Amino acid sequence: MTPDIPVELQCPQCGGPVTLEESDRILSCGFCRVRLCLAFQGPASYRLTTPDLPEDGLHYVPYWRYRGMTFSVQDLEIQHRVADSSLLAITSRDLPPTLGFRPQVLKLKPIGSSKGNHFCKPRHTFGEARARAGAAHSPKITPEDEPPARKAFEVLIGESVQLIYAPVIPAEDGLWDPVVRRPLGGGAAGADALRRLELNQNMGSSIHFLPMMCPQCGWDLAGEKDTLVPVCRNCHTLWDTGQGRLKELPFGVASSQGAGDLHLPFWKIRAEVPRLQLATRADLIRLANAPRVVRAGMENESLEYYIPAFKVHPQLFLRLARSFTLIQPAGEPARELPRSPLHPVTLPLEEALEVLPILVGSFAVPKKTYLPRLGELRFQHIESELVFFPFDLRGSELIQPGIGMSISRNALDMGRLI
Ligand SMILES: [Zn+2]
Ligand SMILES: [Zn+2]
Repeated sequence: MTPDIPVELQCPQCGGPVTLEESDRILSCGFCRVRLCLAFQGPASYRLTTPDLPEDGLHYVPYWRYRGMTFSVQDLEIQHRVADSSLLAITSRDLPPTLGFRPQVLKLKPIGSSKGNHFCKPRHTFGEARARAGAAHSPKITPEDEPPARKAFEVLIGESVQLIYAPVIPAEDGLWDPVVRRPLGGGAAGADALRRLELNQNMGSSIHFLPMMCPQCGWDLAGEKDTLVPVCRNCHTLWDTGQGRLKELPFGVASSQGAGDLHLPFWKIRAEVPRLQLATRADLIRLANAPRVVRAGMENESLEYYIPAFKVHPQLFLRLARSFTLIQPAGEPARELPRSPLHPVTLPLEEALEVLPILVGSFAVPKKTYLPRLGELRFQHIESELVFFPFDLRGSELIQPGIGMSISRNALDMGRLI
């Protein structure tokens, strides 16, 4: 993983300095003690700086920095990896295509915190930048007889995307990188081209702050600093911060025979997919050709997908989704929050929906019929809720007795860095 760059903000209430990690979604001020949710309008945007750099008079060029989990189909197998990279968001032959190696003293600051800097407008959306990078890596000539269905299907999910503006100085003889203090080339023409790029001199801040207060009862909301969904332990409600405001989220808590030391959140999703007979539990077992008998009742049990609402290594992520979905945990979940801790929700519903073709593809047999066509599956979301499952702590392992699934605590902690 690339190192996390500290984010330096000012407390909107008292003006005191606050340092956050890139994945933090809750600001806690050490001076006035206020706690606020961070909500972004558009992508989180920061400028990259160091203690040595001037606060004004610099040119900044945009990069998309992202982390997430990539799933793809290649050679009739599902591949996965952690994605952690950056892409230049404008077209330039002179600038590095990614942010690359950077010294340890970097900081991120809000773009609105400076005056007199020149910010170059992004030319490519994150999707466009990825498509361009993908096209640059794939072979230039595709054989005529290669059917389009054989092309690799790839999804990036759970991505946290930031627009990072990196400083560049257009000097007499070319471009200069003031962070690593080295010439970037481009000559006088490159420096001229940079000066001519479309600029936005006074960019406003893209960060908004929401009070950590329950909209329903006024109680303080609780949640770990990287959660997207703070909770009210007074009136037992969950609040989604994703849309720039607090929106109530339906949830349930699965019952537990064990200690239930930690509750892990899963998205329970009902979705339709045209062109596949996949509406009931029996349909899933037939699709998977699984060594399980289809019992009569299963024909009437509507299929629900269970996708982790948190990030872990993609291999474990898919294993969790498969185990929970295959078992289809029964029983009506409780509507009261447990006393034991809740693992933070770090993967929004929209991202969970994107992994459904991969999940279904991982079950489907025979592979050669289904895997090349995963990109054609279009899941239509019908309804969803967040369900917390209790896990019992045994040594360094967390065990879900009902599902028969264990996760190491270390894997959970590592997942929070993705
Ligand atoms: Zn403060
Ligand atoms: Zn409340």
